[in-house]
Amino acid sequence: MVDIQISNEVFVETTGKKLKYFSNDGRHVRIGRSEGIKVREAFNEMRKRIGNAQYISYLMYLVTFLNNNNELYNLSNSKVKGPMSREDIVERLKGEFDISDRTIRRFLSDIKNANVLIPNNEDNSKYTIYYMNPAFYNAAPEYGINIKLFLLFPNDIVKMIDAYKFIHCSKVITDAFNGKDQTKYLRCINEVNENISKVVNGEEFVINKTPKKITWTKAVEAFKKDGISKVLGLPLNTLFNCIFHLDKAESAMVLKRSNTELYYCRNKDCVSTEKMLGNDIINLIAMLKGWENDPEWFKLSVEYLCTVYNYELEETVNDKFSKLSAA
Ligand SMILES: [Zn+2]
Repeated sequence: MVDIQISNEVFVETTGKKLKYFSNDGRHVRIGRSEGIKVREAFNEMRKRIGNAQYISYLMYLVTFLNNNNELYNLSNSKVKGPMSREDIVERLKGEFDISDRTIRRFLSDIKNANVLIPNNEDNSKYTIYYMNPAFYNAAPEYGINIKLFLLFPNDIVKMIDAYKFIHCSKVITDAFNGKDQTKYLRCINEVNENISKVVNGEEFVINKTPKKITWTKAVEAFKKDGISKVLGLPLNTLFNCIFHLDKAESAMVLKRSNTELYYCRNKDCVSTEKMLGNDIINLIAMLKGWENDPEWFKLSVEYLCTVYNYELEETVNDKFSKLSAA
């Protein structure tokens, strides 16, 4: 049986703001109210993908057997308890609809190929559990998604929740499921902007052909000056849809102040906005990379930007002092 407990209280801290992405027991990723539209869109897309009215009615019937984790379970008043086996499913469907074994066989195979209902052999267990894609139906309380489903249906879940939140949750979940490859989830994210998705996916890219030697201070100055427009490709003095959440209202804007490009979002729940102070490119890189909790976030962002700008940091007087004293 699956028994994952991430932690009692999982918070994701973003520029001083604490956001709770997980349920209290750490088993479900919460779906925010702003994500409601995305959930509906994912459902509609999934219905089109299934494209068979009969299949939809079989699935809607099976939905009544889902537990909080989107697993098909025999109801508590049935003779057999525990997860529904393939035989249980066949028997139930035959009891409810007048259909042949052959139709059921085809249904189960088509629906598995469409990634709607898939059998999964649990570790250390003789059981096979059938999981339903939360984009079709989500049985979790408080409108959450069972974290196990991130491993089974990442392509559909990414369409249901904000990209930024998806990245954070995937990282936490990847740690909980040792050995799983988190790049699988990151690849699911289809950002509007190509470079933003490169930053998020850890793809290397350079914006300057010629390498340049530069001091740390000059480098930081240069990044702040034009990093948001140059690296992320976001426009200045123009309203656009915020890159950190589902935003159809064009809530975000980049302004230049005291020779620094700053990212603002007027959505008061936005992770990018703390007291409307704005974030520079160094903050944004740390957020997109998920480095905000790392004490070294500033250094990591600057080093990352050095690669992008093709800058080589010159040795400082301090560096020379430390080298000599270490020798
Ligand atoms: Zn925003």
